[in-house]
Amino acid sequence: MDIAIIGAGPAGARAAWVLARGGARVTMFDASHPREKPCGGGVTGRALALVADAVNPASFTRTQIRSARFLLRTFGASAGQVPDRTLSASAGQVLERESATVALDDEALVVTSRADFDAALVSAALNAGAELDRTRVTDVQVDAGGVRVDTRAGTRRAAFVIGADGATSLVRRRVAEPFRRDQLSIATGFFAHGVSSSEIVIEFVADPPGYIWSFPRPGHLAIGICAEACAGVSAGHLRARTAEWIRATGIAGGARLEPYAWPIPSLGTRDAQTLTVAGPRWHLVGDAAGLVDPITREGIYFALASGQWAAESLLRDAPASAYASRVAADVGNELARAARLKAGFFRPSFIGVLMSALQQSAAIRAVMADLVAGRQSYADLKWRLLKTLEMGIAWRALFPQLLRYRP
Ligand SMILES: Cc1cc2nc3c(=O)[nH]c(=O)nc-3n(C[C@H](O)[C@H](O)[C@H](O)COP(=O)(O)OP(=O)(O)OC[C@H]3O[C@@H](n4cnc5c(N)ncnc54)[C@H](O)[C@@H]3O)c2cc1C
Repeated sequence: MDIAIIGAGPAGARAAWVLARGGARVTMFDASHPREKPCGGGVTGRALALVADAVNPASFTRTQIRSARFLLRTFGASAGQVPDRTLSASAGQVLERESATVALDDEALVVTSRADFDAALVSAALNAGAELDRTRVTDVQVDAGGVRVDTRAGTRRAAFVIGADGATSLVRRRVAEPFRRDQLSIATGFFAHGVSSSEIVIEFVADPPGYIWSFPRPGHLAIGICAEACAGVSAGHLRARTAEWIRATGIAGGARLEPYAWPIPSLGTRDAQTLTVAGPRWHLVGDAAGLVDPITREGIYFALASGQWAAESLLRDAPASAYASRVAADVGNELARAARLKAGFFRPSFIGVLMSALQQSAAIRAVMADLVAGRQSYADLKWRLLKTLEMGIAWRALFPQLLRYRP
């Protein structure tokens, strides 16, 4: 074996496919398949386009998303003045739920079962000549002579290791620093079985700043909420909050609810600019490298792209710094911008104005559609908003956080 890939999620399977096609001897290690990963399952058009050479979308079940409905609970005052601060619809304070619907085109977003989507990626890698060792890796040691991979089934050696083992990456812990608490978010929620739809629903909430989402996978809704791990909000509290939302909106009817909780890397501005992704004999890809958009939580595209870049770099026999430079240039700056915008983006004053704009302005709905589809870079978000939205609204929406922001 030349290359050991620990983890066969999107990042590991994509790396394996590229490497095997390039003639490398590559083994993925992962005991989990088939498995349903706690995830929204939203796969953007850009992610599907990236893997179109390996995976036919018809080969996995998916829901084509036609629209995104945005909600904001208000207290009867105009949106933005008195934003959502309460959980309980029964507290009698919530008078209404503002709503705005954004149409999505065929290229924007599908929602998949992660069991199906990941299986299609793994199957493509196996067909290309990669191997899958269905065992859990218990330790990884990198030394001058190569890489030692200890598994529950014995020890293997490789010349190089790719850490594609997700947010709690063992490889990351061995070759670099584990993520700090302030670099992680916790996502908590439920799969609501037997219900689906062609619409994603996103309700903005002020505390913790962010949103509750419902993503309709084929056969079930993936519903959840996310909070920074160091925000002092327990997973139990978040789950109760999600359950209350499900009840209040009636979105799942009487569906059986299956709980989940899982970490998501959520890097700050400085972290995203100084990503640790490569060293002698190792690369980190996907969640193990921290590559998730801190606003939209899109991680699948970055997992696929980074897996591909790591593999291409290895096939060229390039130094570790080549992969690191590519990640920094193509992703690091963009994630750093997202991290910088995040606090302002979820501020109630911004969300209130955004909701009004979504209701009134086709141009803003187009911007939001592109954000959902992963087509809107943060580098020119401000400029596009200023150009397309009535100046006064954009000014209030963006001030003061984003006006200081320089892309
Ligand atoms: C609740 C939630 C909702 C999300 N929603 C979305 C969304 O809608 N769209 C989106 O783009 N992103 C979303 N994300 C992010 C997305 O799930 C991740 O970014 C993506 O799965 C990262 O892919 P990966 O291959 O890097 O890691 P993973 O998909 O986590 O795969 C890692 C693999 O490594 C294996 N592994 C781990 N440790 C070991 C070990 N020691 N030995 C062997 N194998 C091991 C695991 O079993 C797993 O199969 C969401 C995340 C969460 C938690």
